[in-house]
Amino acid sequence: MLGLMQDQPLLISSLIEFAARHHHDAEIVSRRVEGDVHRYTYRDAAARARRVANALDRLGLAFSDRVATLAWNGYRHFELYFGVAGSGRVVHTINPRLAPEQIVWIANHAEDRVLCFDMTFLPIVKAIWTHCTTVKHWVALCDAAALPADTGIDGLVAYEAWIAGESDDYRWPSFDEKSAAALCYTSGTTGNPKGALYSHRSTILHAYGGALPDALGISARDSILPVVPMFHVNAWGIPYSAAMTGAKLVFPGPHLDGKSVYDLIEAERVTMAAGVPTVWLGLLNHMQQHELRFSSLQRTVIGGSACPPAMIRTFKDRYGVTVLHAWGMTEMSPLGTVCHLKNKHLDLSPEAQMAILVKQGRAVYGVEMKIVDPAGRELPWDGRQSGDLLVKGPWIISGYFKGEGGDPLRHDPDGDWFPTGDVATIDPDGFLQITDRSKDVIKSGGEWISSIDVENIAMAHPAVAMAACIAVPHPKWDERPLLVVVKKPGAEVTREELLAFYEGKVAKWQIPDDVQFVDAIPLGATGKMQKMKLREMFKDYRLPTA
Ligand code: AMP
Repeated sequence: MLGLMQDQPLLISSLIEFAARHHHDAEIVSRRVEGDVHRYTYRDAAARARRVANALDRLGLAFSDRVATLAWNGYRHFELYFGVAGSGRVVHTINPRLAPEQIVWIANHAEDRVLCFDMTFLPIVKAIWTHCTTVKHWVALCDAAALPADTGIDGLVAYEAWIAGESDDYRWPSFDEKSAAALCYTSGTTGNPKGALYSHRSTILHAYGGALPDALGISARDSILPVVPMFHVNAWGIPYSAAMTGAKLVFPGPHLDGKSVYDLIEAERVTMAAGVPTVWLGLLNHMQQHELRFSSLQRTVIGGSACPPAMIRTFKDRYGVTVLHAWGMTEMSPLGTVCHLKNKHLDLSPEAQMAILVKQGRAVYGVEMKIVDPAGRELPWDGRQSGDLLVKGPWIISGYFKGEGGDPLRHDPDGDWFPTGDVATIDPDGFLQITDRSKDVIKSGGEWISSIDVENIAMAHPAVAMAACIAVPHPKWDERPLLVVVKKPGAEVTREELLAFYEGKVAKWQIPDDVQFVDAIPLGATGKMQKMKLREMFKDYRLPTA
């Protein structure tokens, strides 16, 4: 017997219409590329999202066509989230920090039809537009007056002019909730970037999960500053959860330094902020230098990389702000776990509570997880034994876009699991702690560096016999790449020569910070480099730049 409830698809358009109706005057505040502060309401955002939908219809874009963005966090980007996905197309957020060749590769792979970009990125667009073979329409996110006449880019329009002639009346289509809504590429695995393709259903379920009190706890009483970019897994789903709850949104635009973030928090009475540890380091330094206090901030969500325990303590002890340490992945939309105490922990001493709060936290409902040994056997949740972390749930990928990289899932008798590439312990209360990473990548300031790319370049040097790249801790960037090199017999090369060898081959921030020469790199039985052993060998090593 089936239940007798209405079978209404979970669609992203319903979020913005809900916000416009029930929270019409809740504010969305943006620091703009133009330098000023823009403010309007959910009602205004919904009207302009409908104009975007009409404009896309006028271009003749088909259902599921991709519309790319190269943009900071701001109200126009927010409108695109809803106008593009709501009208049945797919919003493809591209990370502008990638090298131009990578952006071209991703735009061509995604077969983007339209690319909308902030004026900050005009130089990138000028350099790449002729290589993006599927993009027929370029939209600069600005007024017509701000657009230089001589860009040379065919089909370029200013966003404001593009939507100005459109009606804000639009009937959002209804379709299968499993349809694709958003696309985000990750470089956090080996090989080419891979696309995580979110559906309307997965996005709405994730928005519910993210808003829960023991997740990000988002409500209509919040003023939320997502410092985490909208091109990093949809700013951790905050734009959707905020629309679902009517929370005020505060977008920082390109201004991510400590002073700008602090000023925005104070000016907009921000209650919750979210971002990677590097951002908060800048903020805390600024506050310490100028002896500042927060007047409204209650909590900050920190994830994307391990949050240093000292940062959690400083926020709590000096500023009375609760850090919610969170873990997730692009492939998980991204929320997996968030660290909140349980009722039984409330009477513990501050030190005992801190020992829990430094962990990555407990699973949000919707995410199942298990840890396994190398033979795939499930390990107990004893907080001591660590194993490969596998996850499953309705907002976790079943495959990458276009089947790239084959089937990523592990098909166990108890279901289809996604191997995260993280190594973790889970304690009896379900608190996850990441202890290592089995995937071969480095995460610097929230951005991935492929160790394989770094190694391949070193291996192309005539004096290098073998090269391995590992992550080493860094106080500002969390991790930085260290290159470990075995020289060819009789060959000579210096650290400086090797580092200079990277110039022009990768983005500057992807060049290793140091080179260490060794006699041998540990190899496993199959001849593969044993990165975990290598990391162990260099565990006390500190970078000269750190
Ligand atoms: P991304 O797909 O770029 O969001 O990166 C996901 C990866 O970042 C995870 O698989 C982890 O390796 C790492 N990561 C994310 N959050 C944390 C955290 N709180 N602690 C440690 N590592 C993290």
